[in-house]
Amino acid sequence: MNSRTAYGQDRLARDLEVAVDRGEILAHYQPQIDTESGQVVAVEALCRWRHPEFGSIAPAVFIPIAEAMGSIHTIGRFMIEDGCRLAAEWERAGLPVEVAVNVSATQLAPGFFGHLGEFHAREGIGPGRLTIEITESQMITDVDAAVRDLAKVRALGVGISVDDFGSGHSTVEQVINLPVTELKIDQAIVREESEAGQRAMNAIVDLVHRRGLRVVAEGVETEQQFERVRLLHCDRVQGYLIAPPLPRLEVEEFIARRNAAG
Ligand code: C2E
Ligand code: MG
Ligand code: MG
Ligand code: MG
Repeated sequence: MNSRTAYGQDRLARDLEVAVDRGEILAHYQPQIDTESGQVVAVEALCRWRHPEFGSIAPAVFIPIAEAMGSIHTIGRFMIEDGCRLAAEWERAGLPVEVAVNVSATQLAPGFFGHLGEFHAREGIGPGRLTIEITESQMITDVDAAVRDLAKVRALGVGISVDDFGSGHSTVEQVINLPVTELKIDQAIVREESEAGQRAMNAIVDLVHRRGLRVVAEGVETEQQFERVRLLHCDRVQGYLIAPPLPRLEVEEFIARRNAAG
C-alpha cells in the first residue's frame, strides 16, 4: 500500500477543506538566482501542508485532490495573499526580489481575477514584482481561453510563467504566442545530457529570448547542470544546488547573506 492509500483520499479531501482555516497550510519560498551575478532575484512560493496526524504531506499528493474537490480555491487564495504581502513588503524595504506563485488552471475562474486584482492593488505592488506560474499543459488545453485569461493577469502588471516547459507535448511556438513573460525549463530537460538535447534547448532558448521573454532553469542540483544551463543562456537558476524551498525567515536570511556576498 502506498502512502496515498494509507491515509485515504476521502479523508484528505475532507481535512483539506478546513486546513487553511486551521493554519495547517503554509508557504515556503525557494530562491532563484540571476545566472550571471549569482544574486537572488526572485523566489517561488511552494505550499506545504502540516497535517495534525499525518505530518507533512507533499503538494504532489494534496494539490490534485484540492483541484478535484474545489478546496484549491481556498488554498490558492491563501497562497496569492501570502505572496502578494511578501512582494509588497520587500518592495517597500527596497529589496529587489520578485515573488512567483503557482496557480492551477482550475483556479482561473472569474472570481480569481477579481481577487488577484483587488489584493494586488490593495498591497500596492509594482509591475513585475509578482508572477504567476501555470504549467504548460494547463495553458495549451484551451488556447483561446488561456489567451483571454492570461491577458487579464498581464493587464494587472503581473507576470506569467510557463511552468514545467518541455514536460508535455506543447511546442515552444505554441507557448510563446501566449501573453506570457517567462518560460521555466522542466527538471527533466535540465538533466538531459545528450548533444542533440543541448542543440534543441539552444534553439528554444534563442527563440524565447528573441521574443523578449525570460528563461528560468528549475531543478538544478549539480555544478554540471548549472554550467550547462549557463551555457544555454538561461537567465535564472533555481534548485537544490542554490537552496531548497525555505520558510519565510530563513529565505530572508539566505537572501541577505547571498546578496551581501556580491
Ligand atoms: P513546480 O511548480 O514545478 O515546483 C517545483 C518543484 O520542484 C517543487 O516541488 C520543488 O520543491 C521541487 N524542487 C526544487 N528544486 C529542486 C531540485 O533541485 N531537485 C528536485 N528533484 N526537485 C526540486 P514541490 O514543492 O513538492 O511542489 C510540487 C508541485 O506542486 C509544484 O511543481 C506545483 O506544480 C505544485 N504546487 C506547489 N505549491 C503550489 C500552490 O501553492 N498552488 C498550486 N496550484 N500548485 C502548487
Ligand atoms: Mg512552479
Ligand atoms: Mg516546475
Ligand atoms: Mg511541477
